[in-house]
Amino acid sequence: MDTAQRTPTPADLETISRQLGRPARDVVEIGARCICGNPLVATTAPRLGNGIPFPTTFYLTHPVITSAVSRLEAAGVMTEMTERLERDEQLAAAYRRAHDAYLRSRDEIGQRTGVGAVPEIAGVSAGGMPSRVKCLHVLVGHSLAAGRGVNPLGDEALDGIAEWWTTDRCYCGGAWDESGPVPDRDLSRHTKTQGLSPDELEAKRAERRAAREAGQDAGEEGLS
Ligand SMILES: [Zn+2]
Repeated sequence: MDTAQRTPTPADLETISRQLGRPARDVVEIGARCICGNPLVATTAPRLGNGIPFPTTFYLTHPVITSAVSRLEAAGVMTEMTERLERDEQLAAAYRRAHDAYLRSRDEIGQRTGVGAVPEIAGVSAGGMPSRVKCLHVLVGHSLAAGRGVNPLGDEALDGIAEWWTTDRCYCGGAWDESGPVPDRDLSRHTKTQGLSPDELEAKRAERRAAREAGQDAGEEGLS
């Protein structure tokens, strides 16, 4: 497997479905791969098949990375980063450049994959960019797809998870269910999670708890 191969193979889409616990949809490229070749980032079309604009282009799919990043979020790293953006002008400028790079990549992906321009989300990136940090998964997804030196806070978050995941090793063994059938039904009513604020995520969790208590499983897995 060529780890630089962007075009998703049927096996890639199957792996992503297993990683996410739901069918992979609207994946137009593989944004980053494990050294073993498995997808780490699902590059998602800026407009979904159902017509809805989708700003989160570099969607982190590897469960080991998503849970490591969730640990950083739980430790309060986003608040600390947002405070630094307010007082560190150099960091703030680099982060604004990351925002611009994100938008440029998304436009290029839209062109390359035939999705075209998506005016509804023009100028809107993800993860809190350009001035805040609202989702570290988005920033890490960007850093993995773009490489080091593009998103300073995504790079920092990657350093922050080095205890649990690093680019030079494969952490895929046992990270998702390989034995059962490939998820082919979307049991969740909400599949967009990356890019939501902690409050919004908590609202979704509460909604699912309520649904479970009411006896209907909303069934979304892998939520940070
Ligand atoms: Zn691997």
